Amino acid sequence: EEYRAASERYEQMPFHRCGKSGILLPAISLGLWHNFGYVDNLENGRNILKKAFDLGITHFDLANNYGPPYGSAEANFGTILKRDFLPYRDELFISSKAGYDMWPGPYGNHGSRKYLIASLDQSLKRMGLEYVDLFYHHRPDPDTPLEETMAALDHIVRSGKALYVGISNYNAEDTAKAISLLKEMGTPCLIHQAKYSMFERWVEDQLLDTLGNAGAGLIAFSPLAQGMLTDRYIQGIPTDSRAAKKSGHLTSEAVQEMLPKIKTLHTIAEARGQKLSQMAIAWLLKDKRVTSVLIGASSVAQLEENLKALDNKDFSAEELSKIEAILER
Ligand code: NDP
Repeated sequence: EEYRAASERYEQMPFHRCGKSGILLPAISLGLWHNFGYVDNLENGRNILKKAFDLGITHFDLANNYGPPYGSAEANFGTILKRDFLPYRDELFISSKAGYDMWPGPYGNHGSRKYLIASLDQSLKRMGLEYVDLFYHHRPDPDTPLEETMAALDHIVRSGKALYVGISNYNAEDTAKAISLLKEMGTPCLIHQAKYSMFERWVEDQLLDTLGNAGAGLIAFSPLAQGMLTDRYIQGIPTDSRAAKKSGHLTSEAVQEMLPKIKTLHTIAEARGQKLSQMAIAWLLKDKRVTSVLIGASSVAQLEENLKALDNKDFSAEELSKIEAILER
């Protein structure tokens, strides 16, 4: 059955300018880290992607090793793209990354020019794309000169394999260096992808200022703390949840530790007339330097719930200070 995107797909979603660039990103973007590997149900993934695009999500985020197994999220995405999204390619902003373990030997990990260029070529093949819109160095590599890694990103843009480049998980100091190296070469750093949620606030110390001053955007990953900032674990750990699954990157110990805070935050969300997931997303969007919030979803229902975060984005000073008090405790 042929997919026709909803004609009203741009009516609800706010788009934010990414730093000082020509690119607008949806307030909420979708990542394919979990739920899109060969271990997962392809038809479910397909439905999530279609619904996302119907609701205005133009940005899908991948990486070389998403799965499991490694590469399978890109391969599945390629299958779905070919089936449903080719007519919409120019309405999509697709990213991939390299920087973590991908293939055996010394050239399948970290930050060398050798690894980044080969990995992107593999990603393009798996997805059936000629170029990605955005390519990231996925994490800093202390053993490779930053000059080499940034020159590889510059080369990738000049070769037409990516339209923009970004970095992920770099601290504020290295971010400033990377941005300035790229700028010298004439290739701007579009965006930084960083872990940011109510439970993980390191970006507030310096990184947001660095990016804001440099005119680069920030996209916040794991905004729901992998599902902890939702209703998922309030009654225990469901067997189909990330914390229970072998392939998941969340431990039940982490959930147990955060549960008291989760429950208190839940009551604040209720008083605001929204779900905890929705409050957690809205809370990130209050800082205008946050270009987009990069969620994951294992079902269409989760995706739809999360997008309703946009219905109530305002916080009173009292709500904010109550939330601060809980997070500090
Ligand atoms: P989230 O914090 O949004 O967690 C998503 C998970 O939470 C879902 O898969 C689901 O897990 C659960 N969930 C989501 N919505 C709901 C809901 N409404 N109710 C109940 N449970 C819900 O983000 P992710 O950790 O998935 O990260 C998002 C993206 O960020 C990734 O896909 C990836 O693109 C990127 N990322 C980047 C990294 C980097 O180093 N640059 C590292 C990590 C992520 P379930 O149903 O399975 O329990």
